[in-house]
Order: sequence, then structure tokens, then C-alpha cells
Amino acid sequence: MLNTSTVCLLSIMKIICVGRNYSAHIEELENERPTDPILFLKPDTSILLKKNPFFIPDFSDDVHYEVEVLVKIKKIGKHIQEKFAHKYYDEIGLGIDFTARDLQQQLKQKGLPWEKAKSFDGAAVVGNFLTKDTFTSVNDLNFTLQKNGETVQTGNTSLMLWKIDALIEYISKYFTLKIGDIIFTGTPAGVGKVNPNDVLVGCIEDKELFSIKVK
Ligand code: ZN
Repeated sequence: MLNTSTVCLLSIMKIICVGRNYSAHIEELENERPTDPILFLKPDTSILLKKNPFFIPDFSDDVHYEVEVLVKIKKIGKHIQEKFAHKYYDEIGLGIDFTARDLQQQLKQKGLPWEKAKSFDGAAVVGNFLTKDTFTSVNDLNFTLQKNGETVQTGNTSLMLWKIDALIEYISKYFTLKIGDIIFTGTPAGVGKVNPNDVLVGCIEDKELFSIKVK
């Protein structure tokens, strides 16, 4: 059987990421609170292949981890209403939106797009997925990121400014959602720099969904 990352690379899919979806993270980066969700895309080539380490790119001295809850789309849709959004996904996962923060700062200051800072090869960690019926509610999921055994980020999906179904409504106004597309729903507070030899482990509730070595 093909694993998730192989399937993603074989079929044409996209990753839609949401920026500034948790208040505490907006405050830690001293960003403005958005009036609408902030969206950006990562191409399929940004997905870190399963079991591969993450190599810090040579164009950045400040790559940050951002742990995020993922939603995998199972049905094609456009202009999806929030009340029907739950029909478009069955699986919830966890990943990392790696960000070259120094490069992103430069691009932000010039009002330029963020892609070089967020969509480079390997910048999207897509961990394992669980069916949503594993959980009582997708809007009350605890998730964590550990770095070298120490918890560095904790979040709960109830703290999202826009919840999953609202995000699907908003995103699908602009982008047709296709089978296999993945939504990165934003990071909670606690983002920080990665260094060579770090090990990053992500969990939703008590389930480990990825473990990544940094080189
Ligand atoms: Zn992010």
C-alpha cells in the first residue's frame, strides 16, 4: 500500500495554510489581528517525505517550527457553506509549517509574498491522520509539539479564531477544494528556532503523529 506522502506526490494536490488563527501566537509575533483569515499555499514539493530528516536550508539562519492541526479534504467542493463543511473531511492530522522567519520578516516589511519563506522544499511536515470519529469534537483537540523531549507548543482547537468548518467555507470561496488537499489550520503560541540534531515530536491528545529529525 502507498503511504500518505507517496499518494500526495503522485496526485496533484495543494496545501492551504492559515496564518494568525490563534490570539496568543498573534501577540508573540506582534502581528495585527486579522479581520479575515490569512491564507497562503504550499506546493506538493514542500512536503517532507516520510522518514526523511528536515534539512535547514542555507538561505536562513532562523527557521522556526509551527505545529498545526491538519484537515484532509475527501470531496471536491467550491462555495461550501459552513453548515455542510463537515461532509468534506473525515481525517484530522498534525504537521509543521516550517518558516524561515528571517526571510519572512524581510518579505513582510517589503509587502512581498511569503512563499520563499514558507513553501520551500521540505517546509511542510504532514504527519499521520486519524479519523475524526476518534475524537469527541474536532473543536476541542489538545495538541503539542515536543522538542528534544520538552514540550514547546501546546494548543487546543477551541482557541482558533476561525474553526475548521468556518475555514472551509472561507477557503472554498477562493480555491476549489479537491480530494487529498490539506489545510494547515494555524499555529498556537510557542514557535521557535530549530537547530541541527533537534528531534520534533507532535501529538494530538495522547497519539503521536510525527517524529522528525533536524539536520
Ligand atoms: Zn503556520
